[in-house]
Amino acid sequence: MLSVPLERMLLGLGDEHVILEPRSGQLLHPEALVAFERLAADARNAGFDPLVVSGFRSFERQRTIWNRKASGQRPVLDSDGAELDVAQLSPEQIVYAILRWSALPGGSRHHWGTDFDVVDAAAMPEDYRPQLTPREVADNGLFGPFHVWLDERIAAGESHGLFRPYAEDRGGVAPERWHLSYAPRAIELQQLLTPERLCEQLQRCELELCDTVCDQIDTIYTRFVAVPDHCYPNFDK
Ligand SMILES: [Zn+2]
Repeated sequence: MLSVPLERMLLGLGDEHVILEPRSGQLLHPEALVAFERLAADARNAGFDPLVVSGFRSFERQRTIWNRKASGQRPVLDSDGAELDVAQLSPEQIVYAILRWSALPGGSRHHWGTDFDVVDAAAMPEDYRPQLTPREVADNGLFGPFHVWLDERIAAGESHGLFRPYAEDRGGVAPERWHLSYAPRAIELQQLLTPERLCEQLQRCELELCDTVCDQIDTIYTRFVAVPDHCYPNFDK
């Protein structure tokens, strides 16, 4: 059994474990905030200006997104970004289509506050709204130079424990170069988040396609929730 505070943190059921990142108004785990501030200071010396655009997200918010997509109130997109007709898909197909772009409630690393999405404010034209698209973060995209710099920092072990859990396409979550994670805390939380624990929580709330999700939970967990150990950087524990 997990303690109540730990379970609330793990599944995004509460926000007691996160604090305000003042500039963005986003909420982060205190340790992730320190790591981000150190990284941001290094980045400013190199001419970049990292800005958090999305930090902590709650279980409830992720559940709302999920239910809207599953019920056709919000578009479900294929891997290329084209809209799918959910009426033509089996429940299983809908589940996997949603998972390509949206986390399973309870299965999002954003619940932990250790993970956040970042852009380079120094590269943004005035009034620019970040889209978080592959194009923006490609080497020749708007935020490309910042991400190339960041790749070098991560490879050199000089990113203050931050790494990219979705650097490559492992057949699950689409690559998200903008998504950073504070490894020392995230790796501990990931170990606590088991498929069984996830299904217990999903069955307690009203989730569309819950039976299909729980039938498939081992596959979903491997492809969309767990980040393999070898993807984590070496860090001093
Ligand atoms: Zn993210």
